[in-house]
Amino acid sequence: MRFKIQMVIENDDEQTTIEDIFTFEKGASHVVDIGLSLSESKQLLKRLQSSLVQAQAKTFIKTMGQCGACHKSHRIKGSHTIQYRTLFGIVVIDGPRLHHCHCDKAHSGTFSLLKQLFSEHVSSELKYIETKWGSLIPYGLTAKLMKDLLPVSRTLNASTIKNHLHNVAQRMEKDLQEKPAIEIGCGNDWAKLPKPDKPLTVGIDGGYVRNWNKKKSNFEVITGKSFSKTKSAKRFGFVQRQDPNPRHRLMDVLQKQGMQANQQIEFLSDGAENLRSLQYLMYPEASHTLDWFHITMKLTVLNQFAKGLRNSDPEAAKLIIQDLESSKWYLWHGNSERALDKLDECYWRLEDEGITYDNRKRFIKHLEEFNTYITNNRQIIPNYGEKYRYGETITTAFVESTVNEVIAKRMVKKQQMQWTRKGAHYMIQTRTAVLNGELTGYFEQWYPGFKIDDEQQIPGEDVKMAA
Ligand SMILES: [Zn+2]
Repeated sequence: MRFKIQMVIENDDEQTTIEDIFTFEKGASHVVDIGLSLSESKQLLKRLQSSLVQAQAKTFIKTMGQCGACHKSHRIKGSHTIQYRTLFGIVVIDGPRLHHCHCDKAHSGTFSLLKQLFSEHVSSELKYIETKWGSLIPYGLTAKLMKDLLPVSRTLNASTIKNHLHNVAQRMEKDLQEKPAIEIGCGNDWAKLPKPDKPLTVGIDGGYVRNWNKKKSNFEVITGKSFSKTKSAKRFGFVQRQDPNPRHRLMDVLQKQGMQANQQIEFLSDGAENLRSLQYLMYPEASHTLDWFHITMKLTVLNQFAKGLRNSDPEAAKLIIQDLESSKWYLWHGNSERALDKLDECYWRLEDEGITYDNRKRFIKHLEEFNTYITNNRQIIPNYGEKYRYGETITTAFVESTVNEVIAKRMVKKQQMQWTRKGAHYMIQTRTAVLNGELTGYFEQWYPGFKIDDEQQIPGEDVKMAA
C-alpha cells in the first residue's frame, strides 16, 4: 500500500496551503514491513524539517520585507542562500538581498533578512546534543551515533563535533570571566549571616593526558570535586596554562553549590607538591588536609612488601609489620613526628645486610618515598581520629575518583587519544557541565525559550560509589 504524508499550513492570514512531504510504499504481510523504518523516519523528518523551515522563513520575509517606518516594500537587489544546520538535516533557504529604504537615513546599501532570522547557522538543539554526547563519548563515535539515528548532514564528523563543542566551551569560559569576582568578606560580616550548613569539602587531583603537539609527552589536567553532606557534588577541571584564574573558577563552583561566606571549606589534598601550592593559591582561607585515603593506599603497598618479606625473613617481617601498624596509628592521631620515627625503624631493619628478600631494594625505595611524602605534607596532617569522631570528612575515597570520572573515562581510555592543551581544557569544561547537570542551564540562558526534553539524571551519579 501507499502512504502519503502531507503538511497543512494555516497561515495567520487564513490562507491554507497543502504540501506533499513524503510518499512511500509498504507491504502489510511481513513483520519487517510494519511501522516506519529508521531510514523512512530519517527521510520523513528531513523533508518535514525542510518544508517547515522554508515556510517559516517565507513568513518572516513577508512580514519583515516592508519598511518599519513608511511601510513601503524594500526594493530587491538580488537573492542569496544560507544553510541552516539542524538535528533533522541541513536546510537550504533562499532569501532576498534588499535595499534599505530611502526614508532610513541611518543605513545605506543592502541587507539580508535571512541573516536577521538566522543569527547562527547551527541550531541550538544540534549544538546541545553534539556538546552533550561529545563530552561523554569520543567525537567520532558521537558523529556516528547521530548519523545512525537522525537525518543530520552526511558530512558530520569528529571535527565538526569538536568545533561546535569548542564554541560552546568558549562561550562558557567567556560567561565565567565576565562574572564578578566572589568576595567572601571577613569575620565581622559573617556574624550577621545565618548559621552555615555543614562544611563543604573540595578534593583536587591531577591526571595526565597525551600531548598532541609534542608526541610521546604528557601534560597535566587538574580536576576537582566539591561536595557536602546535603548537596550533590559538583566537578570542575582545567588545564593549568589555559586557565588564567583557577580561584575564580573554584569560587564559581562553590557558589553554585550554595556556599555561604561564613561556611567552612575543607580542602582534601592528595599531597602532590604542585597541587598543594595550587590549592593554597585557589583558596588560602580554607583548611587544608591530606586525604586519609592516599595515606592508607601508600601504607597498603608497604604492608604488601612486608608480607612478602615473611617468606625469607619472618622475624624482621613481624617487627616491620608492627612498626608500620604503629606508624599508621600515629598518623591517624596526627602525630607525624612519631610516625616518621617508626618508618625510620623499618628502614634500619631493612638495612641489615643479612636480609635476603629479593624485593629489599624496592621496599626501601617505597619506604623512602613514603617518608618524603609524610615529611612534605606534615602541615596538612591533622588528628584524623578526632575529626572522624566529630563527623568531619577526612577522605574522598567514598566518591568516585574525580580523575577517573572527569579525565580517564573520556580522555585516556585509548592510548592513541591525544589532546592539545586548549582542546583538553575546552572538553573538560563541557564534560564537567554535563556531569554537574548544568549544560541545559547554559543553553536556556543563551537561547531564551530553549527547551529540551532531557532526562535529568546526571551520568556520573549512577556510578556505584567506589570503595
Ligand atoms: Zn521607509
